[in-house]
Amino acid sequence: MIKKILIANRGEIAIRVMNSCREMGILSVAVYSEADRNSLHVRYADEAYCIGPAPSNQSYLDLEKIIETAKKSGADAIHPGYGFLSENAAFSERCKKEGIIFIGPDAHAINTMGDKITARKTMLAAGVPVVPGTTEPIVDLDEAVKTIVEIGLPVMVKASAGGGGKGMRLVEKEEDILSSVKAAKSEALAAFGNDAVYIEKYINSPHHIEFQILADQHGNCIHLFERECSVQRRHQKVVEETPSPIMTPEVREEMGRHAVAAAKAVNYAGAGTIEFITDDQLNYYFLEMNTRLQVEHPITEQVVGVDLVREQINIANGEKLRYRQEDLSQHGHAIETRIYAEDTDNNFMPSPGKINHIHFPLGAGVRHDTYAYNGYEIPIYYDPMISKLVVWGNNREEAIGRMKRALGSYKISGVKTSIPFLSRIMDVPDFKKGGYTTHFIQNHTEALKSKDSCSEECSDLAAITAFVDFLKKQERAKPASNGKAPASQWKAFGRKKAVTRL
Ligand code: ADP
Ligand code: ADP
Ligand code: MG
Repeated sequence: MIKKILIANRGEIAIRVMNSCREMGILSVAVYSEADRNSLHVRYADEAYCIGPAPSNQSYLDLEKIIETAKKSGADAIHPGYGFLSENAAFSERCKKEGIIFIGPDAHAINTMGDKITARKTMLAAGVPVVPGTTEPIVDLDEAVKTIVEIGLPVMVKASAGGGGKGMRLVEKEEDILSSVKAAKSEALAAFGNDAVYIEKYINSPHHIEFQILADQHGNCIHLFERECSVQRRHQKVVEETPSPIMTPEVREEMGRHAVAAAKAVNYAGAGTIEFITDDQLNYYFLEMNTRLQVEHPITEQVVGVDLVREQINIANGEKLRYRQEDLSQHGHAIETRIYAEDTDNNFMPSPGKINHIHFPLGAGVRHDTYAYNGYEIPIYYDPMISKLVVWGNNREEAIGRMKRALGSYKISGVKTSIPFLSRIMDVPDFKKGGYTTHFIQNHTEALKSKDSCSEECSDLAAITAFVDFLKKQERAKPASNGKAPASQWKAFGRKKAVTRL
């Protein structure tokens, strides 16, 4: 039985994993880089070890250092979170060799699914529909042009080793084929150290719908329904919700069956996600499998009522799944927004820096997964995600209203954030209607721009200043009884603060 888990990650996901550990009576070990000394995950863990300098490849990606720390701390298992080493087959294998439990799938499953060309072949053999396209890497460029013309434009040229929305190119015109394939190959080589690319038909009116699965080490596998992740920017998710507003019970059942078949085809064990791309008619095709916990896993937890990290740990302990497919159902509606330190009015430039003040939204149906606190300085070295705001409602309309309210009461000063942008998404009629595609953000750039030059933060300050002015006028209007103005401590404080902050 696992008694102590090392979390090979940082930020909100490290804390999320530690929460389940604590609830299960398991000790947690944090690792951190020099840039993360003041990170909340370090304080939150039962033990913490510095594993190297700020750059990821010298700390969070340093496999040797992490294994060494696991041994030193006496951890019997490692949870990799998402990103970093979570989809590294060599890491999973190494843990096994060292007698440490890797909370995730084995090297075979990671390797098969991590290489998208191999995954496509495996899915075809398992009878899972894949996006029409090639199943071998593009070698000969003239051959590539022929193939693409046969498949029919538009197509996507995608890196077999791609991930995180990187390494793919849309080709719409025949004359662009050669240059796009060449560019995709060199991009793939630079980003992933592997220049293998393949071709997929571009699915028109695309919707990203993915299925959460759980599989134990005894051959049992279930799905925990879908997540709709079509609100994307540069192929990266911005807002996720479940259930999908376009799903039907029939298609859900069929896609769920295919998701389970996909996982079984690689003898999967653990939590994983099968991503599909669908069109408006709900024709669906396998995109890829993420062999780890997903960023957006909390919305599934809220609607299905399962703690996915707890189940990951149970599975790693060799236990059988506690649920049968028929035990599970979706209850209500959940939405997640990813809160980033970024300037959405300035091409989404990262905006790291010191959080002067942070006020979290609270109240019924609100969950907030974060690692931020007052005075925390967001390092420049890592993903600038501050938190994930998750809401639950009895239905979609209620959930949207709740998200809007929660975003409205979420205050951060010191860094620019995506909060106002996310709030505007909740107001767009096409979002409210549901049925939006992955082009949603691109198609609504005007509606999503901030309406005036004054940000939400500066309008808060403007309101404080106006109130202080009002108090001043009131004071002046008061007849002085003793010749002295009655001094209010609060007023002086408020005035000083408003002046220094402006
Ligand atoms: P999810 O599907 O869970 O939303 P993302 O694709 O957004 O996951 O990726 C989750 C995290 O992992 C992000 O921080 C992303 O930058 C990182 N990531 C995913 N795949 C890769 C990869 N191949 N190389 C580097 N980082 C990756
Ligand atoms: P990654 O590993 O980077 O997450 P995916 O294959 O999951 O790459 O694709 C990421 C996103 O890119 C999808 O959610 C979708 O928006 C878009 N995309 C990928 N392939 C296609 C396709 N064939 N047609 C339309 N959109 C696609
Ligand atoms: Mg993906």
